[in-house]
Amino acid sequence: MRRTEAIEFIKKYKDVEMAEQGVLLIVCGPSGVGKTSLCRALLEARPRLTPSVSYTTRARRGDEVDGKAYHFVDVPTFEAMIERDEFAEWAKVHGNYYGTSSKVIEAAWGEGHDVLFDIDYQGARQLKERYPHATTVLVAPPDMTTLEERLRGRGTDAEEVIERRLNAARHELNQHELFEFLLENRDFDAALGALSAIYDSARHARAMKVDWLNALLKLP
Ligand code: 5GP
Repeated sequence: MRRTEAIEFIKKYKDVEMAEQGVLLIVCGPSGVGKTSLCRALLEARPRLTPSVSYTTRARRGDEVDGKAYHFVDVPTFEAMIERDEFAEWAKVHGNYYGTSSKVIEAAWGEGHDVLFDIDYQGARQLKERYPHATTVLVAPPDMTTLEERLRGRGTDAEEVIERRLNAARHELNQHELFEFLLENRDFDAALGALSAIYDSARHARAMKVDWLNALLKLP
């Protein structure tokens, strides 16, 4: 049975909520761990997945396009959105607001997409509370020396910035209990293989399928 047909059945039997939700794949990890490259490669390999475009109050960098990298808004606009309860999650990261609009998630699901989130651990915690079937992955470096080398390898950052990022990394990695999957990014291809497998299994997870199965069981 195709997904759309399954949803039609389930609507008939009123148990719609879970069935209309797609996979939420939340990928967290410290700056420099390589999660952005992993996410980009996974999106290419799995066209059903679409990235969640967050709202942020941070300044636009270089060639970032509004509506693509982020929806760039000012602080009053972001705070008004909080007031109107428009965020599925939001957090302050490095002094700026970042948040995921509930509408963005629902629109993606409405189009039959699953959604990939590149957000921080505070956002992961909130999304998991709101959507218990969300899949949470923490990407970790093989060791802290490698992470430090990768951060320094980026080139231009001041020593103070690197120290701040390393401390933030230790703090983020300490939140590992929030995550179902811990992914070591020692070798890019191996890590991508593991991340793809995690996503593929989330598609088949019981939480995604139980209403569909219930609907089938109610069929004459
Ligand atoms: P950057 O400003 O470098 O793009 O992102 C800084 C941090 O904010 C990253 O750790 C990124 O994962 C996180 N982030 C990006 N969007 C969101 C969001 O919508 N919610 C939360 N909680 N964190 C986000």
